[in-house]
Amino acid sequence: MGAIATEIKLDEAALSALRVAFRGELVRRGDPTYDERRKIWNGSIDRYPALLARCAGVADVIAAVKFARGTDLPVAVRSGGHSFPGLSTCDDGIVIDLSLMKGVRVDPKARTARVQAGVLLGELDRETQAFGLAVPAGIVTHTGLAGLTLGGGIGWLMRKYGLTVDQLLAVDMVTADGEFVKASESENPDLFWGIRGAGGNFGIITEFEFRLNPVGPIVLAGPIFWPMEESAKVLRFYRDWIADVPDELTTIVVHRRVPPLPAIPVEFHGKPVVAVIGCYAGSVEEGEKVIRPIKQFRAPFLDLCVPTPFLAHQSMFDSSFPQGWWYYFRSADLAELTDDVIDIIATRAPQMTSRLTAFPIFQLGGAIRRIGEDDTAFTGRRAGHTININATTASAAGFDEEREWSRSFWTALGPYHTGVYVNFLMNEGEDRIRQAYGAHKYDRLKALKRKYDPDNFFRINQNIPPN
Ligand SMILES: Cc1cc2nc3c(=O)[nH]c(=O)nc-3n(C[C@H](O)[C@H](O)[C@H](O)COP(=O)(O)OP(=O)(O)OC[C@H]3O[C@@H](n4cnc5c(N)ncnc54)[C@H](O)[C@@H]3O)c2cc1C
Repeated sequence: MGAIATEIKLDEAALSALRVAFRGELVRRGDPTYDERRKIWNGSIDRYPALLARCAGVADVIAAVKFARGTDLPVAVRSGGHSFPGLSTCDDGIVIDLSLMKGVRVDPKARTARVQAGVLLGELDRETQAFGLAVPAGIVTHTGLAGLTLGGGIGWLMRKYGLTVDQLLAVDMVTADGEFVKASESENPDLFWGIRGAGGNFGIITEFEFRLNPVGPIVLAGPIFWPMEESAKVLRFYRDWIADVPDELTTIVVHRRVPPLPAIPVEFHGKPVVAVIGCYAGSVEEGEKVIRPIKQFRAPFLDLCVPTPFLAHQSMFDSSFPQGWWYYFRSADLAELTDDVIDIIATRAPQMTSRLTAFPIFQLGGAIRRIGEDDTAFTGRRAGHTININATTASAAGFDEEREWSRSFWTALGPYHTGVYVNFLMNEGEDRIRQAYGAHKYDRLKALKRKYDPDNFFRINQNIPPN
């Protein structure tokens, strides 16, 4: 646990000047809301910033950057606060927090949306689904759109429509000097390339413009469950079946204990399972045909893959990942689910000890691959799967053991790693970040960093140092 180490002296005159016009909220140690505001999603991370600048708009962001620039304090940027390794907060520094910036404007005719940085995935879905549209994003609705997009963005619609970054048309950004810039294919294209995968290394994105895609509102989606001891058999059939399913279907395989959800009969709660969860982004009838083989190859003990509102499917995992539990993960991209990979997964999964742990294996491919590997900073478009070995406990009790399980499982898969999705990195050091982008892209990103943030002002992130 962190602790308040030293009392940080802020320049009171500069702070008063900032306060005069600031539309949002400035929160300091000792303020009544400080403890609530400083919390982030991962309960295992407990940091004590000197100041939280909760911005209400672009002018607040510019003012906060300029204020922070006048101090020597570290600066963290926060939108949804869902960074697993806690890269949206810091001890004794300044958090520039965009979570109050909630504007969403959908243009149903042009099929575009302008979205401010504080919007969460479920908030965006709510606005876009009113028009039968969606931005492909992640699988938990309380995740921040900003951090997710800036790393790439994988989720239920990705095989049909691509990653979240693949929908981006333009962004507004505040630089380390407090300058306002735009980026798109036609304006600052180098920056536009970099922010599509290399996170917040270059500045603070205040607004995104996305292309929208038709989805639902009803989709065929949900989990199909088998006992966990059948994992190897299920995974082998699954591997062969997904080899030629259409891009409308995205699946995720999850190993876990059945959560106590109202939709699940109580006699199954707590049972260790392997679940294949699908979402068919097309007609329900077509989806039924495509999904039938996996439902039939071996009778599942529970089949909840049925016509469902897309919005409901999107929130299916929400209660499995609440704010405040303790989380750790190790992740890797995998080319394919070979027999060896399957055997490792089937052996390691039952060794999880926490009843709260649930780890997903995402099926990639489809539209993700149709964009060139060098077209965006996001790396790993050729990967077949991303495995995210999540270790979850409610508190510190049992956390170390579960974390060890995750690390050891990940190490066992080492010979099969082909890369790693940058949003699924913990604090793993510069070599791992270089690996995530590959040496060539990493050098290109460094050059971009020298251009936009030569002092590495934005360094609390999956950092690409300028030199
Ligand atoms: C429960 C859960 C489920 C997830 N599911 C998925 C998933 O399905 N698909 C997927 O792709 N990822 C998923 N992720 C990973 C997720 O993409 C990252 O954790 C992401 O960073 C979260 O974004 P945020 O805005 O909530 O993060 P924050 O913690 O606020 O920020 C994360 C990082 O992004 C930077 N950043 C945030 N906002 C800005 C901004 N406006 N400008 C510049 N930099 C900024 C921060 O400085 C920090 O380095 C999940 C994470 C969690 C916790």
